[in-house]
This record gives sequence, C-alpha cells and structure tokens, in this order.
Amino acid sequence: MDDKLMLMIPGPTPVPERVLHALAKHPIGHRSGDFVKVIAELTENLKWLHQTQNDVLMLTVSGTGAMEAGIINFLSAGDRVLVGCNGKFGDRWAQLSEAFGLNVDKVTAEWGQPLDPEHFREKLEADTNKEIKAVIITHSETSTGVINDLETINRHVKAHGQALIIVDAVTSLGAVNLPIDEWGLDVVASGSQKAYMIPPGLGFVAVSSKAWEAYKTAKLPRFYLDLGKYRKDAAKNTTPFTPPINLMVALQTALQMMKAEGLQNIFSRHQRLMNATRDAVKALGLPLFAPEGAGSPAITAVAPTDVDAEQVRAVMKKRFDIVLAGGQDHLSGKIFRMGHLGFVSDRDILAAVAALEATLRELGYEGFTPGAGVAAAARVFTTN
Ligand SMILES: *Cc1c(COP(=O)(O)O)cnc(C)c1O
Repeated sequence: MDDKLMLMIPGPTPVPERVLHALAKHPIGHRSGDFVKVIAELTENLKWLHQTQNDVLMLTVSGTGAMEAGIINFLSAGDRVLVGCNGKFGDRWAQLSEAFGLNVDKVTAEWGQPLDPEHFREKLEADTNKEIKAVIITHSETSTGVINDLETINRHVKAHGQALIIVDAVTSLGAVNLPIDEWGLDVVASGSQKAYMIPPGLGFVAVSSKAWEAYKTAKLPRFYLDLGKYRKDAAKNTTPFTPPINLMVALQTALQMMKAEGLQNIFSRHQRLMNATRDAVKALGLPLFAPEGAGSPAITAVAPTDVDAEQVRAVMKKRFDIVLAGGQDHLSGKIFRMGHLGFVSDRDILAAVAALEATLRELGYEGFTPGAGVAAAARVFTTN
C-alpha cells in the first residue's frame, strides 16, 4: 500500500512525525544567533544521552565517517591497534585502519558469535612494551545481530593503562546502557540514522581527555575530520563547516523526545523489543543467529533452514510493506534481520511478527502453531 512502508532495517530507522515536521522548516543561517542556541541545546542533550562530560562533537558524515574521525585523530602510521572482528563492521574498521597505515592486529570470532574478552586480555597483558595504542571495538555488530561484551573488554584495556578504547556504538548508543564516563571510554562514535530517530547525515564522536592527549602527538593526516577544529568551535556553539542545519533542528526535537522518555525507559524498551522478537522467532521454530545472552537490542538476525531468507524478505515487503534487512557478504541469502532500533514500539513488533507468520504460511513453512509467534511476543509485553 502506498505510503505505508515500515522500515525494520538497522538504519535508516523510522522517524517520528514531530521530527519530520522539524525537518521541513526553512533552513536558518548557521552563523546566526538562533543557530548558536540550537547547538548549545544539542550539545547539552548529547552529553546527557552519552552519559558523559566529555566533548560530543557533531560532524556531517555517516557512521563510517564518525569512526574514521575517531581513529585518525588519535593515532600515527605504524601504530599497533587491536581490532575486534566478528562481522562486517569490525572488518570495516580493520580495513580502514590498514588504509591509514596502522599496524592491525585482529581479534576475531566467527560471524554470529561475540568476541571473547579473554583474547583481548591475553594480547594486552603480553604487551609489556605498551606498543598497543588503541583497541577498536564494535559494540553492537549490526551485520550479525550480536552484542559484544564491551564492559569486560574495556576493563582489560584499562588494566593495560596505555591503549585508548575506540568504540563503534552506532547501533548501541541510545539503545543499550553505555556509561561513557563511568567506564572511561575514550572515543565513542555513532550516527544519526540509528537510535537518534532522524535521517542519515550526522555523525557523533565523544572524546575523552586521555584521547585529546593522544591527539596532540597523533600524526595521521586530517583536515575535514580534524576533531580539534570541531572542539574549538563547539566551545563557541558553532561548527567549522556548514552543518546539516535541518537535521540538527530535527535532532533537537528527537533528543527532547528521548529526554521525555528517559534513558532507563529507552534501554528497557529496546531490551523488551529484543526479547519479544527473539521469543517470537523461537516460537516459530526458526533458528536465531546470535546465541542467548549475545543478542543485540538493536537487531535480531534469523537463519532459517526450511524456508528461504530472501523469499521471506520479498513477501514481507510485497504483501505487508515491511522492509527487513538481508545478510551481508557470505551471509547473503542465509539470514534475514529484523531491526528494532529507535522509534519502535511494542505494537510494531506484534505487527511484524504477525506478518512474518502469514509470510511463512504463504511460503509453505508449517513448522509452528498459528499465532505462536504473536503469543510469545505478547507474553513478553505483558510481563515486562
Ligand atoms: C550503520 C552502522 C555503521 C555506519 O554505517 P554508515 O553507512 O557509514 O552510516 C557503523 N557501524 C555499525 C555497527 C552500524 O550498524
């Protein structure tokens, strides 16, 4: 049906109507007094969302640009970095680091499994000469629907003492507890089209004082993504280059909505959405891709064996206007992924699960009692 599209991909995510209205306003000048006030409010609310007193800088980039800024500003060619690789995004940060001439040491896990914090502990403890300059971790690995144990890995980084921890929090920030100051995370990157409930185009980087110390001696070339420029201007509530004004005005509204909901409520909602989705998938007899305890509150990956993943996606789209994500790289055709990140409610999951049941029936898959998925999701919603 026209104009009825329901996005269940892990970004871009659905945008609330109030935010869409904010986007539709005439742009105002980015050097105007009015815009200074917008930036001042955004900065304060971004610190609230990030649970930090550190700088949280806004760049006109996608999530990858935010990560690139988070890596190149604090390192020099030849620096040894440990990169956690258990999916498409972890691999991307290894490739990016290699492209900039860093000495990449990968800590890997099979796609679909979480990284083992012990592997980090071993490498960090063995590094008595303190050659490891940074540990780069994807918190929520969107490509597989796996959440990595950032808290434990970070504890090993802290025990090392020297290395910075650089976090891809693109699908975890604003979905799961990520107390930057309490954990002492150095660099945390995220992007607007995920939990922020606004369209793509803005990247965010939170930077600790320890990372700013590293910035002073870091030698990788930087210009547009030179975070020092953004920090200097942020102190005056302005930006070094023309920012996406409409997106930032929309972000004002989105952050106000998030504040009204409250951080704990946002986190428990995502947890509930994940639990309901996972329980529904199990009740339908479909295998979950991420093991128990390692599911991402942003996205659930399903690896069906008795029905074709791409056919499920096709029917969900054609019959029900629900867009699911497919698998990436070698997982293409093997999994489908249901995003539940950002502006998503219990009702959305009930609707999606019901549509999934109808889709499975249409495809001739009968490995479940009709209504079992919806009942399982509803059970989570009535007991949480
Ligand atoms: C979406 C996403 C990114 C950023 O991708 P862009 O297309 O550059 O916005 C980075 N990491 C993860 C885990 C993501 O889900």
